Amino acid sequence: MIMEFISIQQAMDKGEGEVSLRGWVNRERGSNKLKFIVLRDSTNTIQCVISRADVGDDKFAEADKLQVEASLEIHGEIKKDERAPTGYELHVKDLNVVGLSDSFPIQPGQSREFMDDNRHLLLRSSKMVAMLKIRSTIFGAIHNYFRAEGFFEYQSPIFQSMQCEGGSTLFECNYYGKPVYLAQTWQLYAEPAIFALEKIYTVAPSFRAEKSKTSRHLTEYWHAEMEAAWIEFTKLQDYSEGLLKAVVKEVLDKNLTDLKILERDIEKLKPTLEKPFPRMTYSDALKILNEKAGMNVEWGKDLRTIEEDKLSELYDTPVIVTDYPKKVKAFYMKEVADNPDVVQGFDVIAPEHYGEIVGASQREDDLEKLKQRLLDQGENLDEYEFYFDTRKYGSVPHGGFGLGVERVIAWVCGLDNIKDAIPFPRTMLRWKP
Ligand code: ATP
Ligand code: MG
Repeated sequence: MIMEFISIQQAMDKGEGEVSLRGWVNRERGSNKLKFIVLRDSTNTIQCVISRADVGDDKFAEADKLQVEASLEIHGEIKKDERAPTGYELHVKDLNVVGLSDSFPIQPGQSREFMDDNRHLLLRSSKMVAMLKIRSTIFGAIHNYFRAEGFFEYQSPIFQSMQCEGGSTLFECNYYGKPVYLAQTWQLYAEPAIFALEKIYTVAPSFRAEKSKTSRHLTEYWHAEMEAAWIEFTKLQDYSEGLLKAVVKEVLDKNLTDLKILERDIEKLKPTLEKPFPRMTYSDALKILNEKAGMNVEWGKDLRTIEEDKLSELYDTPVIVTDYPKKVKAFYMKEVADNPDVVQGFDVIAPEHYGEIVGASQREDDLEKLKQRLLDQGENLDEYEFYFDTRKYGSVPHGGFGLGVERVIAWVCGLDNIKDAIPFPRTMLRWKP
């Protein structure tokens, strides 16, 4: 093969002449004289026609052995062809089999369990490839957004000696005979850094030993978190809205083909770009749920999935719900000045039943209140000494949020289950492959 290899997409953009391609067999069929192979690479697929007359008996015999997912190099002439699945056809002049394939286990219609057991092979399917490309765009968009807004990227430890989001979802590890926990969040290690960098963000794994099986919870997920000194509560909401708009915009700019493969109705994503997100207090949300959906939630109870879902049905953009009851939220959320039963925190609820995608708050700066709330939760204050120092040396108003990247991917892609928003999902019942 004489020519330099190009991608299938580049070959189709070229549209005519001789090209060399390499990839994997996506489909194959044929007769004694003609063989049709749909070749796949990371960019696209193309139908290739191999005729015994053109390549000779030996090469044709090689081609005849190819099963789905075999890898090969192919040289031939590309031509426009309306009848071909992607509009072009390659007339093969030479081919070189690189890796034969056994009978490929992934077939349409297999069970969820089987697909999850074969995740390493399922990654090659067109829907997974489309999701992975969108996932890549979303990670990039998060970095682009925060950097453009003047945030520094900052990293926190994964091994941590205390809880932050509640002891019930901690993963304990044996650290040379002592207990440590996998990070539930970066937060307690992010707050000390705002005194150095002021505006920081990260995208990193978080770990939660979730005990329920839902379509929204992983035990290992990617968490995009920000923390900022001097920030005000409305500005914090603006950042969450700005970030979500930036993410959706970048996906709509770059991944229309992938969204189509996933059969995503993009009209459902456009309002997020075009409209401001409704902002309401928790108490308002209860009123709206009562008036518009006949749901009665007792003040003080956290919004459950069914209430979040109902609320999401009333809007076509994400909704920001602020001022939750203190008792349902984490210890570090700041009390509202004239109403200590309520905290300056908010959740962003995604449209279309995708649930909470962002959790946020101003951070409590009153050291005694922080200590009391930890004691109320039965925590050992010694483990938090370093954190208390953030309130002793030039404390400033500050706040931050965490966005569940797979929740956002599931929503943007229109997936039924969060497991399909990550290559190798980890849940209570799934930790391999
Ligand atoms: P939920 O009530 O849905 O469990 P949470 O209140 O525990 O969420 P936070 O502690 O506020 O969530 O975490 C910040 C964000 O991280 C959430 O808004 C969500 O997008 C995401 N998230 C939290 N837990 C998980 C999980 N187990 N799997 C995937 N994403 C998660
Ligand atoms: Mg949770």
